[in-house]
Amino acid sequence: MDVSREQMAFDFLFVGGGPANLAGAIHLMNLANQKGMELDVCLIEKGDAVGSHSLSGAILDPVALKELIPDYLEKGCPVEEAKCVDGFYFLTPGGSFKMPYTPSYMHNEGCFIVSLSKFTAWLGDIAEEMGINIFPGFPGTKMLYNDDHTRVTGVRTADKGLDKDGKQKANFEPGIDLMANVTVLGEGPKGSLIRDIDEKMGIFSDKMPQVFETGVKEVIQLPETSSFFQSEATIIHTFGYPLGLNTKGGSFLYKMKDRMISIGLVAGLDYSDSLFEPYEAFLQFKKHPFIADIIKGGEVLQMGAKTLSAGGYYTIPQLSVDGAVFVGDSASLLNIQRLKGIHTAMKSGMLAAEAIINAKEKNDFSQNALQLYDASIVNSWIEKELYTARNFTQALSKKVFPMIAHLGAQYISKGRGLKDPLEIEPDHVTLKKVKEKQLNAEDTKEKQKVDGKLYIDKLTGVYLSGTQHEEDQPCHLIVHDFDICVTRCYQDYRNPCTRFCPGDVYEIEQDENSLVPKRLKLNPSNCLHCKTCEIKDPYQNITWTCPEGGGPNYSLV
Ligand code: SF4
Repeated sequence: MDVSREQMAFDFLFVGGGPANLAGAIHLMNLANQKGMELDVCLIEKGDAVGSHSLSGAILDPVALKELIPDYLEKGCPVEEAKCVDGFYFLTPGGSFKMPYTPSYMHNEGCFIVSLSKFTAWLGDIAEEMGINIFPGFPGTKMLYNDDHTRVTGVRTADKGLDKDGKQKANFEPGIDLMANVTVLGEGPKGSLIRDIDEKMGIFSDKMPQVFETGVKEVIQLPETSSFFQSEATIIHTFGYPLGLNTKGGSFLYKMKDRMISIGLVAGLDYSDSLFEPYEAFLQFKKHPFIADIIKGGEVLQMGAKTLSAGGYYTIPQLSVDGAVFVGDSASLLNIQRLKGIHTAMKSGMLAAEAIINAKEKNDFSQNALQLYDASIVNSWIEKELYTARNFTQALSKKVFPMIAHLGAQYISKGRGLKDPLEIEPDHVTLKKVKEKQLNAEDTKEKQKVDGKLYIDKLTGVYLSGTQHEEDQPCHLIVHDFDICVTRCYQDYRNPCTRFCPGDVYEIEQDENSLVPKRLKLNPSNCLHCKTCEIKDPYQNITWTCPEGGGPNYSLV
């Protein structure tokens, strides 16, 4: 499409308003102030407000926060629960066992519980007060390069006001080309811009495949009579039911303010059962007697979903190229062993800021100068933490007995284990074809019942996530070949997209009284931006792109 576009130039551009980029932008301004430099810095966020697309557990290890904002409590950091008292349980279908021993990496002394959406909104306010130009509601949809695609020069924001067929409506506004000496990509897991950079510059080449977990989460308000708030425990983690031991993942339940709890189930996307439905498993988990007893009488206030970059150390890409650096979950810096990534994300943003200031002093924004960031990560506690967990996800992907052997050996040998590096497969190759027997069992299986209050269906969840998209816009979910959906995918896997999507975006339409699939129908306005579909589709037939705006509107999760 040939339209004239406005161009705006900044010294530095941060794409994504998560903790990595906000910490990076704040640290950059602090350093610039110390050095008496004047900088023009911009941060764009695809959500309608900073924090509205941020979702996590979330237990915060404040190691990076203390360094960034030492008086964070005086500055009003929104802490939900200051004390971390852990309980680690194994669930069987009808019972629960408190584990006598909690692995050291699961200890949370010194950490506190936050709502990530509130926490990032708070960081956003601080960044704005420091003079950073923050533009919420501006998704970055296209990487900009020099002519031979060897250097990143900025990002184009989404065109707004296109109809379903891509034609301009009366309110059409072309996206803006935001140009910068350095672009910092902190898009979260499975970013669509970093994918483009990888295609051009191969930053993930020679790395292990990126692998992910998908999480469904709710904030539930418990009744005044709830005994849970009288108990000492503030954190509960479980494993076992309903995932079993052959699907990696587990659950969390954290105390928050005002009788609210944060509750979620996370499942590894390397699962093999095509008929597995993470949302249904979440309902099963909530109905387990141990959990049902805690949450009884409660009401779901907010729901959300996201994927986590679970691959860890061996999947970290090259962290800088000419004109760009990659931070946080975009760069696979989450520590899945500790179930934490906010602290590593923040520290990575801060180390990126130091490399950027150094580059500015030299007036050299090439990879040669920016690779100081790669080196700083290697010399930081991020590297130490992730190195110890380097084979953890890989071990969890094995069958039960090898998994236990690998994990035990890794625990003793500080991460090395029985094989180092331990290999892993990409998530989209692990599904097994469905068998007749499974389909018969599925037909007779009852879905979990919902009551619209404590147990809700997917569409109620989408409503409670505040998700909204302009309906008349180009579909942001690109299905490359619709035929595959109703032929091979239906035959082999019974369309797993209709199950793994927590937003009920994908539906197979069938003729009345016939089981023959007619076509795949999409409801993109329900999309929670979790990216599970792009990761798990067995034919890699779906590409998630950024819509013109909207999406979830989280304020509690
Ligand atoms: Fe997640 Fe894809 Fe469903 Fe959107 S369409 S909610 S990105 S699985």
